[in-house]
Amino acid sequence: AKRDGSQGRIEVHDGGLTEDEVDLLQLETDLRRALEEDELRLFYQPIVSLSDETLLGYEALIRWQHPTRGLLPPGAFLDAAENNRLTSKLGAWVLRRACTDAAGWPAGLRVHVNVSARHLAEEGFTRLVADALDESGLPPERLELEITESTALFAAEATLQAVQEVTERGVTLALDDFGTGYSAITALHRLPIHTVKIDRSFVAGVVREPSSAALVQGLLQLGQGMGLQVIAEGIEDLDQAEWLRRHGCAMAQGYAFGRPAPLPSRADTTSAEVIVGKAAEEAAAVLE
Ligand code: C2E
Ligand code: MG
Ligand code: MG
Ligand code: MG
Repeated sequence: AKRDGSQGRIEVHDGGLTEDEVDLLQLETDLRRALEEDELRLFYQPIVSLSDETLLGYEALIRWQHPTRGLLPPGAFLDAAENNRLTSKLGAWVLRRACTDAAGWPAGLRVHVNVSARHLAEEGFTRLVADALDESGLPPERLELEITESTALFAAEATLQAVQEVTERGVTLALDDFGTGYSAITALHRLPIHTVKIDRSFVAGVVREPSSAALVQGLLQLGQGMGLQVIAEGIEDLDQAEWLRRHGCAMAQGYAFGRPAPLPSRADTTSAEVIVGKAAEEAAAVLE
C-alpha cells in the first residue's frame, strides 16, 4: 500500500482493496457515524390528486446532512448501506421518523416510505413496522410502503410473508419505478399491490414522444384494469400534468407540484400545518 499525499488516499494493489472498495468502506464508517450523530434527514415531496386538485400525502426521501460534503442525495450513499447490516438500521430510522412526522400532519394525509429489498426480507421487519405505528400513533391506513420491481422480482418467501403481514394490518404497498423492471406483471400477480408509480423516465416524454405516450397509456390501462391506484412520477411541467389528467391518471408527483423539502419536527405542529397547507395551495394553483 502506498499513501498518495495529495489525496490522502490509500492505494492497495495485487489482490488487496481497490480504491473504490476503500471509498466504500470509508462511506460505511461515515454512515454509521451519521446515524449516531443524527445527520440523516427526511425530506418530503407532495403527492397530489390530478382529478380533484388536492394534496394526498408525501413521500419521505432520505438525505444526509454531511458535515463536510453538504446535503447528500440517497444515490450518494444508499448503496453503501445496502451491502451490510446498516440497511436495517437505516431502514428502521426512516420508518420511525416518517411515522412520527406523519402522525403530526392533518389526518387525511398519507406518508409513503421507500423500503429496501434487503430490509423487507429481514426477520423483524413486520415487528418494526408495528412498533413504528404504535409508537407514533399513526393509523396503519396512512402508511404506504414503496418497493421497487427488483424487490418483487427476487421476492423470497420471507418477503412474501412480511408483505402479507403488514398489509393485513392495513398498511398499503406501492410498486415503485413501475415499468422499469422485467417483472412488473409477475409482481402485480404475486404481491398485494395497492398502487403503481409510473417511472419518470416514461413520464418525461409523454407530450413529445409517441412511444413514451403509448407506453404510459399501456401502464395506466394495466394499473386501472387491475383496480390499482396509479401515480405518475417526475411531473416537471404543466403540459405533462395535463396530458396525464386527460389520459385518466388520478395522482401525480414531481417538481411541478413541489420538490422534496424538510418539514418541521412534530413538536412544531403549528408550522407543520402551515407548510402542509401551503404545499396544498401551491399544488392547487399549479393545476388551475
Ligand atoms: P424514488 O422512490 O423513485 O423517488 C423519486 C425520486 O425522484 C427522488 O429522488 C425525487 O427527488 C426524484 N424526483 C421527484 N420528482 C422529480 C421530478 O419532477 N424530476 C426529477 N428529475 N426528479 C424527481 P431522490 O430523493 O434522489 O431518491 C432517489 C431514490 O432513492 C428513490 O427513488 C428511492 O428509490 C431511494 N430512496 C430515497 N429515500 C429512501 C429511503 O428512505 N429508503 C430507501 N430504501 N430508499 C430511498
Ligand atoms: Mg419511491
Ligand atoms: Mg420511483
Ligand atoms: Mg427511483
